[in-house]
Amino acid sequence: MRKQIAILGSTGSIGTQALQVIGEHPDLYEVYALTANNKVELLAEQARKFHPEVVVIANEDKYAALKEALADEPVKVYAGAEALCQVVESQPIDIVLTAMVGYAGLKPTINAIKAGKTIALANKETLVVAGELITGLAQQYKTPILPVDSEHSAIFQCLEINNPVHKVILTASGGPFRTFTMEQLQTVTKEQALKHPNWSMGAKITIDSASMMNKGFEVIEAKWLFGVTPAQIEVVVHPQSVIHSMVEFEDGAVKAQLGVPDMRLPIQYAFSYPKREHLSGERLDFAKYNTLTFEKPDTQRFRNLSLAYEALHQGGNMPCIVNAANEVVVAAFLKDQISFLGMSDVIEKAMTRVPFIQTPTYGDYVATDAETRRIAAELVINGMK
Ligand code: NAD
Ligand code: MG
Repeated sequence: MRKQIAILGSTGSIGTQALQVIGEHPDLYEVYALTANNKVELLAEQARKFHPEVVVIANEDKYAALKEALADEPVKVYAGAEALCQVVESQPIDIVLTAMVGYAGLKPTINAIKAGKTIALANKETLVVAGELITGLAQQYKTPILPVDSEHSAIFQCLEINNPVHKVILTASGGPFRTFTMEQLQTVTKEQALKHPNWSMGAKITIDSASMMNKGFEVIEAKWLFGVTPAQIEVVVHPQSVIHSMVEFEDGAVKAQLGVPDMRLPIQYAFSYPKREHLSGERLDFAKYNTLTFEKPDTQRFRNLSLAYEALHQGGNMPCIVNAANEVVVAAFLKDQISFLGMSDVIEKAMTRVPFIQTPTYGDYVATDAETRRIAAELVINGMK
């Protein structure tokens, strides 16, 4: 039986690579549903190639165009966020790959878990916003959450059944501004920030990588995926991105997972787990990577990392606040409405302005997200008053 896969965000960086993986293994995987936000042409092209049962375009204004583009295909076409949340519950689906970006991933992930689908989790924002709720539901409904983020996949691949983790060590490339001074950081542009040294990814995560918010989010993601405390999570800057992350055990032994930077591997591993399958492409050539280096992260220059740790310590809805404020400032930075360093200022301010809730319900997360977006947008427009 081929595994039936739904891809949320099939037109993005992770989504298109997931389709490459599926394309390499038509004997193992079948596409059940494809969804995207806006890109009608690409979504229709993917549907013609992979023949899903269903496609969903989140932006309802694009429904007519998509319907027309797929007029000759035997595929159901739906539109809107609600349709997206319903489609993940479809009975035949085995795995839901959450490859959409941001807070919008939360609701469909909750629905997929409740419907008993295995989650291949790329959308880390879901665990940042509501890690406690999500992991609680996953336990209740006995649904596995398998990491797609390369660091978490690496850790997952290093875990041992009978031995608890002493520490997880997340590697970070350091991004394009790793060696920049504070003064240089004041004037960096979005064009510079969008050039990641090792990975080609969507715009939002590329900015998050440049600001190190991505690593901060990955610390929070690690807490929920592996049940470790903040003190058990260490970040080390490793510019070559060859070691994807590590686990230290009680006896001091450290296991690492290595490979070329290629997201298809963690995507495929989430699909094939517990098996490994063949994957085409470049292999690690140690002659080419003859120097591996490591540095401590600098939380003075990259304040977002401290803000994320702070949110993790406070818990409750604080990581949700940081995520929403970050989504607002990253969108503003991409429109040249805020400076690179100004992004951390707004996030920090939002953390003090939005009401703190220690044990949020789902409704509290929705309200926190909306309130934070309002406050952060105001801070962006009016400056930091
Ligand atoms: P991307 O911008 O390239 O693609 C995002 C996809 O989500 C697109 O298909 C888009 O249509 C869809 N989408 C966006 N907003 C939506 C909305 N409101 N409703 C429905 N669909 C929506 O992003 P990406 O780089 O592929 O990243 C996707 C997720 O995976 C993010 O959470 C990111 O943090 C995570 N991730 C990405 C990488 C990577 O290498 N790109 C690595 C690790 C984790
Ligand atoms: Mg990562």
